[in-house]
Amino acid sequence: MKEISKSKKLNNVAYDVRGPVLEAAMAMEAAGAKILKLNIGNPGAFQFEAPDCVVNEMSGTLTVSEGYSDSKGILDAREAIAAYDKLKGIEGVGVNDIYTGNGVSELIAMCMQGLLDCGDEILIPSPDYPLWTGAATLAGGTAVHYVCDEKSDWMPDIADIKQKITPKTKGIVVINPNNPTGTVYGKEVLEQIVELARAHDLIIFADEIYDRLLMDGLTHTSIAALAPDLFVVTLNGLSKSHLIAGYRCGWMSISGDKSQARSYIEGLNMLSSMRLCSNVPAQRAIKPALENIHAMDYLLQPGGRIYEQREAICGALDKIDGISYVRPKAAFYVFPKIDAKRFNIRNDEQFVLDFLREKQVLLVHGGGFHWSEPDHFRIVYLPEPSVLTESMQKLGDFLQTYIQK
Ligand code: PLP
Repeated sequence: MKEISKSKKLNNVAYDVRGPVLEAAMAMEAAGAKILKLNIGNPGAFQFEAPDCVVNEMSGTLTVSEGYSDSKGILDAREAIAAYDKLKGIEGVGVNDIYTGNGVSELIAMCMQGLLDCGDEILIPSPDYPLWTGAATLAGGTAVHYVCDEKSDWMPDIADIKQKITPKTKGIVVINPNNPTGTVYGKEVLEQIVELARAHDLIIFADEIYDRLLMDGLTHTSIAALAPDLFVVTLNGLSKSHLIAGYRCGWMSISGDKSQARSYIEGLNMLSSMRLCSNVPAQRAIKPALENIHAMDYLLQPGGRIYEQREAICGALDKIDGISYVRPKAAFYVFPKIDAKRFNIRNDEQFVLDFLREKQVLLVHGGGFHWSEPDHFRIVYLPEPSVLTESMQKLGDFLQTYIQK
């Protein structure tokens, strides 16, 4: 039989959150090792339980969820999303401007697929949530990474964005709150991005899946609320805020000036129809979830699991020589910096692989998030505090003697 090769479209596509290092971890597990996986933001894997209102609604409506729905989603869900958008100050979103998806992931792929032609550029943060880069590349576009500046609490570097805009730039992706840095962008920086988008006719793609997972009394501003005159695609979902990543439930809303985007909207409608509809039982979770947006707040306050886990991971990182970090304020990720010179780290993937092999703890290297220097890695702080503290003691021990060969 002839060799079966992957499509050339995949040649420059990577998704290292589930990449080669995970494969090594799985091989170790198959050989009997016990691996602590701090690589994926999957609350269900760490004994978090979804709120009853969501689970009950979904399980109680299974028998009426057997058929396909409208390709954009059931009306109840879209009405609830429209009301949520209004609450966030995003004006003018009607039920026809909303698309439900099998997670935000499907919609990221859809909105890139519907937009980009070969040679079109899209601005994506570095570090990024890597699906954005993968989806843009697979769609035939060119991901151009703008820097988020660690020295300014990982805020987007406006000057860097400005200098990377070309006549081919079609849009800008803003991930706020951010994965992998855990940063929350304030109004000021968002307004500067809006100004650039306005001046250069850019679509804004706002990935706001963590907007209900804020700590320290912070509040979230949707960038679409600051740009009622621009075409904005806002993406959100329940995987994280309502701890149901496995149900696959997300949505996107389009807002602002739709008059110039008729053709793009036609494309989105077609792509949405081509996959028939998103998982209908999961759509049932949207209304009760958005009527209970504070259901998970207890996790984010002192005494709550996510808050205490952040304290534990930060406290443990503080004790490791050669590591620094910006304290995360949202979600459940931290993106520490490692003194690459001191440990002779030239390949960050090799570093996480070496740590995995020696201490059975799985992290993701910064390069997996399109960070260009080999000096960062991401930790998912979803396990209980004692587990996190122990895992960081292991990292400290490992670094006592580690020099990359
Ligand atoms: N966007 C961001 C920033 C994420 O971190 C994730 C998942 O980790 C997603 C989108 C995709 O989420 P889902 O497909 O589960 O809705």
